[in-house]
Amino acid sequence: MSKVVKKEYLEEAVPGYNLRTAREEARRCLVCYDAPCSQACPAGTDPAKFIRSLRFNNVKGAAETIRKNNPFGGSCAKVCPYDQLCQEACSRCGIDKPIEIGRLQSFLVEQEKAFDMKNIEAPAEKKAGKVACIGAGPASLTTASQLARQGYDVTVYDAEEKAGGMLTYGIVPARLPQETVDYDIKLIEDLGVKFVLGKKVESAEALKAEGYDAVFVGAGLWGPKTVDVPGADAKGVYDALDYLKKARETGGACDLGNKVIVIGGGDVAMDCAATAKLAGADKVMIYYRRTIEEAPAEMAEISYVQSMGVTITTEFAPEEILVQDGKVSFVRFKGRDGESEAKVKADTIVFAIGQAADPISGTDQEGIFMGGDFANGGKTVVEAVKDGKEAAAAIIDYLEKKAGVKECQ
Ligand code: SF4
Repeated sequence: MSKVVKKEYLEEAVPGYNLRTAREEARRCLVCYDAPCSQACPAGTDPAKFIRSLRFNNVKGAAETIRKNNPFGGSCAKVCPYDQLCQEACSRCGIDKPIEIGRLQSFLVEQEKAFDMKNIEAPAEKKAGKVACIGAGPASLTTASQLARQGYDVTVYDAEEKAGGMLTYGIVPARLPQETVDYDIKLIEDLGVKFVLGKKVESAEALKAEGYDAVFVGAGLWGPKTVDVPGADAKGVYDALDYLKKARETGGACDLGNKVIVIGGGDVAMDCAATAKLAGADKVMIYYRRTIEEAPAEMAEISYVQSMGVTITTEFAPEEILVQDGKVSFVRFKGRDGESEAKVKADTIVFAIGQAADPISGTDQEGIFMGGDFANGGKTVVEAVKDGKEAAAAIIDYLEKKAGVKECQ
């Protein structure tokens, strides 16, 4: 069976701005003192500042604010939970509706790309200090970007063939187009950051021994959490990341299943369900062990998959996967009340119940820093950017002190 994943997701659901409509939206901004929207952004993207620039027709200045404050401004514009962060904090919520910060950010990053604005540049003068970053996800690449902007020599290592980490392999392209991720990464590459891809690094101290003055470990969470359900090793059972990766690598031109059960209640579970639906599955069902109010997925994501015809059954957890001829045939669920039961036919099961970190040795050594999902157990992209910025500041402090000690000797 050959299927094609369509990229029609958010574009259809939320049409983009043009210059006129973007300015109109920016003019609704109250130009708040101590803007709550900016205070609510973990990455410090400063929406109040870029909206103010746009309000006064300064598109370049607005795009520059985003790029300088957040190297993943394009990707965050697509996947950030605005309704729980800046837009929820927006002062206009108490009047009519919040400023559409996410859509304005998307528009401005598109303008930046369309007009090839050079908003960040590496300094001509290089600083002494070589840094390695393990992982090419948003935390690691933010660290790399911040360091390169200060003139440090940075090399990023990743086991995958393509940079981007979860942005490239863990989020359905229909929600986060690959060209958006690629553009964010291209600008980081333009700063002189070097990439060594397709190389798995298992020891931070080994990199230090190769001559790096500091190492950032932002290797993400790539190992699946163990699933203790009989039959979980049958053909047709996937871990969420493998499922999304397969869909992305083949453009959906592979058999991703016709009756698909996704187990989990987070954004990744919603992404898997949307991927299955866009790949042409007849029936896609999400099963989550808690209530919908307890589900960590964004409401917009839940509503979206429901609008595609995906059913969500809550308070049921898998007990057993029934296998026929080595392949999945049914899943037996048990209700949270301890009594209810369900037996559901499926040919594909996707476990989207979280990921675990692959071990990396030597992380407790001097000069080794950690951040992103690897350190915090898995949060949002914007939190990863925040971690990357903080790690870069700590690394710069460490390198400066180290250089100071050398000078004194
Ligand atoms: S909180 Fe809302 S109204 Fe106030 S500056 Fe931010 S976007 Fe404008």
